[in-house]
Amino acid sequence: MPRSTATLATPAPRSSAPQRAMKKLGLVRDIDLALHLPIRYDDETRLRRIADLQGGEMAQVEGEVRASRVEFRPRRQLVVRIDDGSAELVLRFLHFYPSHQKTLHEGARLRVRGEVRGGFFGREMVHPAFRPVREETPLPSTLTPVYPASAELPQAYLRKAIAGALARAPVDELLPASLLPTLRNAPLPTLREAVQLLHHPPPGSTLAGLEDRSHPAWQRLKFEELLAQQVSQLQAQRQRATLIAPSMQARPGGLHERLLAALPFTLTTAQRRVAAEITQDLARATPMHRLLQGDVGSGKTVVAALAAAVAIDAGWQCALMAPTEILAEQHFRRLVQWLEPLGVGVAWLTGSRKGRARAQMIERVASGEAMLAVGTHAVIQDNVVFARLGLAIVDEQHRFGVAQRLDLRRKLAGHMLEPHLLMMSATPIPRTLAMTYYADLDVSTIDELPPGRTPVVTKIFADTRRDQVLARIRDEVAQGRQVYWVCPLVEESEHVDLQNATATHAELSRALPDTMVGLLHGRMPPAEKAAVMSLFTGGQMRVLVATTVIEVGVDVPGASLMVIEHAERFGLAQLHQLRGRVGRGAAASVCVLLYAPPLGQTGKARLRAMAETTDGFEIARRDLEIRGPGEFMGARQSGDALLRFADLDADSGLLQHARRVAPRFLDDHPQQAQALVQRWLASRTEFLKA
Ligand code: ADP
Ligand code: MG
Repeated sequence: MPRSTATLATPAPRSSAPQRAMKKLGLVRDIDLALHLPIRYDDETRLRRIADLQGGEMAQVEGEVRASRVEFRPRRQLVVRIDDGSAELVLRFLHFYPSHQKTLHEGARLRVRGEVRGGFFGREMVHPAFRPVREETPLPSTLTPVYPASAELPQAYLRKAIAGALARAPVDELLPASLLPTLRNAPLPTLREAVQLLHHPPPGSTLAGLEDRSHPAWQRLKFEELLAQQVSQLQAQRQRATLIAPSMQARPGGLHERLLAALPFTLTTAQRRVAAEITQDLARATPMHRLLQGDVGSGKTVVAALAAAVAIDAGWQCALMAPTEILAEQHFRRLVQWLEPLGVGVAWLTGSRKGRARAQMIERVASGEAMLAVGTHAVIQDNVVFARLGLAIVDEQHRFGVAQRLDLRRKLAGHMLEPHLLMMSATPIPRTLAMTYYADLDVSTIDELPPGRTPVVTKIFADTRRDQVLARIRDEVAQGRQVYWVCPLVEESEHVDLQNATATHAELSRALPDTMVGLLHGRMPPAEKAAVMSLFTGGQMRVLVATTVIEVGVDVPGASLMVIEHAERFGLAQLHQLRGRVGRGAAASVCVLLYAPPLGQTGKARLRAMAETTDGFEIARRDLEIRGPGEFMGARQSGDALLRFADLDADSGLLQHARRVAPRFLDDHPQQAQALVQRWLASRTEFLKA
């Protein structure tokens, strides 16, 4: 009773808009604010004589308003003249409120900061920052920080909040001095010194070093960040080493050998090597955490099937998850074809399969009758329970969202025995990322394509040459081959200039009246998609117009021509994936990149890269060059930048050092190491585990 009265009397304070904006940015603890660093600085520590000002420079002056009036030529504006005794300066405001006029009255004393222009009528500043001051108002003794701010989170609010946090937050030193790197043989500053300096640099600090982040104070902070990241990876690795997984021995004459014998081809050397690496992992009693990377078409699926065979032979169930229904279904068909003749029950689980059929599949998985479950994200949904899950395989793992990867983690964790995990990707991880974010991952690479493939020839056409492309399609079809035509969008959206798949489908159907032309897009019901896909796979349908739903993994060996419309709108990795859909059979294949001129700088760079190489690793390298590592591996979509301050390329020296000292730090100072991870990654640890 008294409790409720008290609650009513003091309603919870509603948070203000800037408070909410800070929370959204992860600025919650004092230490978060202390580590929210300026992007640049304004020098308000000095006043200049108006007579000395040069056009083009940023300057601060102080003077008295001599005149203030609204003029109408060339347009309505407020024109204020100030004088500091050396000369006059004109302040021009094209947008202003009555309150401005009030503040800028004749006789007012102003401190003004802005860019100087040598105007026709003398020196002037357009829209300078200004504030009224009394005579002898002291100047700040340090540079003024400018923080990344927004409309909801104004600069002034942020400055005050950060200054308050800096005064309160003891920026504890967590790193023993012996672990710190040196910079040109000089020790780096302490963290407290570094943070203080970066927020409020003393006048005379070299702005260049502060702004390009090469200053020792920046180095100190970036090292902390990189070390925190290395320590968290090391912790994850050690944590995993304590888990127990089922040890699966590959028996001579076992299921995987029978599968090998039944395949219509022999494995490439690279496939044999990675399969052996995986088999060794599976035999251990610690969970495998391995990425299998290999270019599009390098034959990852059969390697996955062999891993599954080892697990199943040892009596463990296996789950295979793919990012789209079409891809999952293709895996399902292939695995059924390979494994059912050998007596393995395969279940099929997707979001679109509902009701009794789904219940039956779930039952077969729960009873252990199905030893292999293939599907989309639905494979790991709550109501799917495995009798004995021993191996999880995730195809095109980077295509899954962070949330889905976390779901998988949760599904795998918490059993008596932790399943082994094999991830597959056609997008190689750049070396620097492999050293940081994926340090806790073993990598196997298939660096060789199956024999007999003719490299795809790539041609770049302006879309004014569509007729030539149509003629080419007619040729291919006449020779009994198949054609993909990929469009970027399903329906006319605000980009009216985008050719949509529907219109293209109609156009191609008209141009090829005797040929079956299909349409596949993301908004079609799954059953319809499957029907179209099976007509194309079966060869009856010769031309398939599709949006990017076909992007990942689809395998139709009879297809020899890939046309990508508005190629300039696709990313490089995507283009490479799409191109990988052709060149899978013996026929020489062509990829035509149609673009709508004029082509921008990055568009040009991407298309050129496509024409110059078919090597997925080279493509990934160029992609990184064009985009930068922050956008890599879907990190962008998650809304979290990988690193806040450090740059993997520019700071590789710091990264190496952090890598070297992380084990010693964690062993000798476990509490400080944990505190460091908390300080830097508290809001990100979930993301990093995904
Ligand atoms: P990806 O690595 O892109 O997933 P897939 O596993 O889909 O590639 O394989 C592409 C095609 O190559 C499939 O048709 C597959 O059956 C075939 N393939 C895989 N390995 C070999 C091999 N060693 N020799 C010949 N063909 C192979
Ligand atoms: Mg694949």
